[in-house]
Amino acid sequence: MVGHCPFCLIVEGEAQADVLHSSDHVLAFRDANPQAPVHILLIPKDHVTSVRELSDKHAGMLVELFRAATHLARAEGIDQGGWRLVANVGADAGQTVQHLHFHMLGGRRMTWPPG
Ligand code: 5GP
Ligand code: ZN
Repeated sequence: MVGHCPFCLIVEGEAQADVLHSSDHVLAFRDANPQAPVHILLIPKDHVTSVRELSDKHAGMLVELFRAATHLARAEGIDQGGWRLVANVGADAGQTVQHLHFHMLGGRRMTWPPG
């Protein structure tokens, strides 16, 4: 746990979240400010600041995370329609929480490019 990191607090059970998936290295919960009918955040349970910090040791966690996303897409009923998985990295991308997270968005037609 990294002090005052909001997502570490959720992992530790010290902050409330609508958790949909918990496995060895990955947690998934609904975004507090959803931008689509389905908006889920998938995070590593260990504190990693962003995609920038990833290394070989995270390979297993990443596969676990992407597999969890696929399972959640089916569970949420958006697998056939399609969904988006996106990570914001740094200020220009709009990263506001400094704990690696992938946004999973679905349930409506997405636009491209994102704003
Ligand atoms: P970013 O802008 O860093 O890519 O995305 C951060 C996301 O985390 C935002 O979509 C925001 O709504 C969500 N978020 C921030 N704090 C919390 C929280 O405490 N709980 C939940 N469920 N979502 C949060
Ligand atoms: Zn954290």
